[in-house]
Amino acid sequence: MWKNLRILLLLVLLAAVAIHTWLDRIATQSWQQTLWVGIFPLNGDGTPQAQRYVEGLTVQDFAAIEEFFAREVRRYGLELQQPVHVELYPPGAQLPPVLEHGAGIFAVAWWSLKLRWYAAHADRFPGRAAPRIRLFVLYHDPATLARAPDSHGLQKGLVGVVHVFADRAMTWRNNIVIVHELLHTVGASDKYDLGSGAPLFPSGFADRDRQPLYPQDAAEIMAGRRPLSGVESQMPRSLSGVVVGPETAREIRWTH
Ligand SMILES: [Zn+2]
Repeated sequence: MWKNLRILLLLVLLAAVAIHTWLDRIATQSWQQTLWVGIFPLNGDGTPQAQRYVEGLTVQDFAAIEEFFAREVRRYGLELQQPVHVELYPPGAQLPPVLEHGAGIFAVAWWSLKLRWYAAHADRFPGRAAPRIRLFVLYHDPATLARAPDSHGLQKGLVGVVHVFADRAMTWRNNIVIVHELLHTVGASDKYDLGSGAPLFPSGFADRDRQPLYPQDAAEIMAGRRPLSGVESQMPRSLSGVVVGPETAREIRWTH
C-alpha cells in the first residue's frame, strides 16, 4: 500500500515537471506576447574592473537586443511589435555553479539541476517581477583572461549562463553572445562546427543563395561568425551584422 503510494507520488511529481517544461515551451515559442528576459549581472572574476563595470551597467546597454528581435521577427512576417523585453536586475553576489569543460552526461545533468536551483533563488528582488527567461551574465576583466569561458543556454528551466568581457568596447559584441544563449533557451541549436568553429553550410549561412557565396554580408546568430571564404570567417562587431537564419527561425517557431 505505502509502496504504491510512493510510486504514485513520484509519478505525479515527474508528470508535474514534464507539464511545467511543456508549458514553458508553449509560452516561449508562441510569440503572441512580449517575452520578458532578465539580465542578472555578476562580477565573474572578482576584479575591481569587473565590479566597476557591472555597477555601471544600464538597461540602455542591452537596447540593441530588443531592436534585434523586433527587426528579425518583422523580416519573418510576424505581427508582434516587441518580441523581447529586457529587464536589468541589480548585480548579484553569488555565482552560478560551474560546469567543468568536457564534463560527462551525468555531470552535465547534475550541473543543470544545480543551476535551476540556483536560478530559482537568485532571481528574487523585492518589488521586481521575475522574468520568464533568466540570463546570468558573468563579466570578466579582459586583462585576466584571453578567452571567456563557454556560455550555456538551457531550454529546460529557461536559464542561461553567459560569460562576457567587462569592457565598454565589447558591449556590442557581448550582446551577440547574450542573444545567442537567449535563443538556445527558446529552442535554437548551434550552427557551427564544434571542432573548428566554422559556420555550417547551409544552416549557418545568412544568405545561402548568394552568388558568389563568399564573402557573406552577415553572420547567422547561431553560427556566430560571418564566412569570408571556404576557410575564413569573422566575428561580427555588433548585432547589426547578424541575422536569424531560416533553420533557427523554424526551431524557435517563427516559421513552421
Ligand atoms: Zn551555442
